[in-house]
Amino acid sequence: MGYEYLLSGRLRCQSCGYALYGKPVSAPNNPRRYYRCLGQDGHRWAQGRVCAGHPIRVEVLDEIVWEQTQELIQHPEVILQEYSRRVQTKKQGALDLTALLMKKQKEIHYQELEKKCLLDLYQTGIIALEEITPRFLHRTLLQVILK
Ligand SMILES: [Zn+2]
Repeated sequence: MGYEYLLSGRLRCQSCGYALYGKPVSAPNNPRRYYRCLGQDGHRWAQGRVCAGHPIRVEVLDEIVWEQTQELIQHPEVILQEYSRRVQTKKQGALDLTALLMKKQKEIHYQELEKKCLLDLYQTGIIALEEITPRFLHRTLLQVILK
C-alpha cells in the first residue's frame, strides 16, 4: 500500500513556484514522508536543482493546511473579503486599460488634425516637404506601434 499525500500537486513552492509532490524517504526503522517541489530535483534540470527550498514533512504541512482550512470554515467572511479584493483588482486593471486606450485614441485624433494642418500648409506653399517628412514618419511609426 502506498503512502497518502493529500496535498500532492495542490500546493506551489514559495521559492520557485513549481508544484509540491509527495516522496517517501526510507531510513531503517524510520520511514518518513515529505513534500518537495520539482525545483529541488537536480535530475530534472540540465543545470541541476533550480530551487534552494527544502522538503517539508508531510505531517507538518498537512497539519498547517488543515488548521488554516478549519480557520476559514469558521470565518467564511475572510473568503468573501478575499474574493471581493480580487474582483476589485481585476476591475481596476480593466479601468486602467480603458483609460490608456482612450488617451491613445485622443492622441491619434490630434495627430490626424496636425497632419491635415501640415498638409494644408504644404499645399499652400507655406512650408516645404522636407520640413514635414520627419514628423510624418514619426507619427506613422507611432500609429503602427499603437495598432
Ligand atoms: Zn521550490
